Amino acid sequence: MSASDENKPLKPATKLAHAGRRPEWTGRVVNPPVWRGSTHLYESEAQRKAATSGTEDGEFFYGRLGGPTQWALAQALTDIEPGAYGTVLYPSGVAAIAGCLLAVLRPGDHLLMSDKAYDPSRAMATGLLKRMGITHSFFDPLDLAGFEALVTQKSPRAVWFESPGSLTMEVCDVPALASIARAAKAVSLIDNTWASALGFAALDHGCDITMQSLTKHVGGHSDLMMGSASAGERWYKALRRTSHELGQVVSPDDAALAARGLRTMKVRLDQEMASALKIAQWLENHPKVDQVLCPFLRGAPGYDLWSRDFTGGCGLFSFFLKSEDPEASGKLADTLNLFGLGYSWGGYESLVLPIYPVTHRSVMDAPKRGGALGGNRPAVRLSIGLEDPDDLIVDLDQALGQLDSP
Ligand SMILES: *Cc1c(COP(=O)(O)O)cnc(C)c1O
Repeated sequence: MSASDENKPLKPATKLAHAGRRPEWTGRVVNPPVWRGSTHLYESEAQRKAATSGTEDGEFFYGRLGGPTQWALAQALTDIEPGAYGTVLYPSGVAAIAGCLLAVLRPGDHLLMSDKAYDPSRAMATGLLKRMGITHSFFDPLDLAGFEALVTQKSPRAVWFESPGSLTMEVCDVPALASIARAAKAVSLIDNTWASALGFAALDHGCDITMQSLTKHVGGHSDLMMGSASAGERWYKALRRTSHELGQVVSPDDAALAARGLRTMKVRLDQEMASALKIAQWLENHPKVDQVLCPFLRGAPGYDLWSRDFTGGCGLFSFFLKSEDPEASGKLADTLNLFGLGYSWGGYESLVLPIYPVTHRSVMDAPKRGGALGGNRPAVRLSIGLEDPDDLIVDLDQALGQLDSP
């Protein structure tokens, strides 16, 4: 249901300001109002009978299938996603992951999942899907030849990517991996939460379905949970059907908040990325910092692929400390004043999280430094928000200064 086809190729910032704001949904106001309702009242039985067959998007039938506020948000996400026919909304990012995988996989199928995937995605493969008779293998997304061999050996029905990888930020060659998958008739799905549609046009780079946790950049204010998946016509219809079968719906209040966040997403992401780059450059030269894992930092792992395929990034990156003390990342988090300690990211406020990547990998070690395994070095993930980066650097400097040398 893309309305973008009739538009001239507008730049992303312009699209963000106009996407999804159809007059039939917004009325005479700018933002789609919070349109609450479960029940559609018919004027006659004849009208109700006529409506029962019509469960198209944009036609109000019953609240579980969404209403104007949700449609406006879904349409806006479709409008900014190159190659998308439609978008399905889910009550969380994890619900979106489940919705995508359940739309594609059947008992007896095999799933290949990136070893760098977000932990709950991995848990979906080892838990829910396994219980349904769907098998899986984890693969190293940086090893194209190994991936091709695994595809030949396992004949997977679907492949799950995430780039940059969770926690350790490896950028993989999505176009190459997706074309190997396509040649073997496997469906390519990607968790594109880090870059969003603004930073990585996943469908244009060979993926069939792209999902995001809207909790992060689209919400942007750490006050809502939501997820989405966008696809071309075939997979959009499969996603929509499965979501309806599972009874998944998001509230109009949350949809209105997400739509509001979407309007400022580009300025927030651009600012967060600029601040993150400044901080990453500063950290890189700090004597207590080992390796900085930030794809848009020149010379960092993944920088070449990031510059080739991505049009943006965000404020999320990680780094290893030189310290041999396994508690060092926790101590750092405890002594920071401007960084909240907590999960999630993409909010306007900066966050810090001590991370232990090796505990979330099956077939790969964490990045190496100079040949020495970096795997059990203390590591930290930062989500840079909209504070002044100079203030954040002062805070990081005092906290790093309190760590025992090195
Ligand atoms: C947070 C996150 C999710 C899950 O989203 P929720 O909205 O928290 O359920 C999925 N993928 C990635 C990469 C995430 O960071």
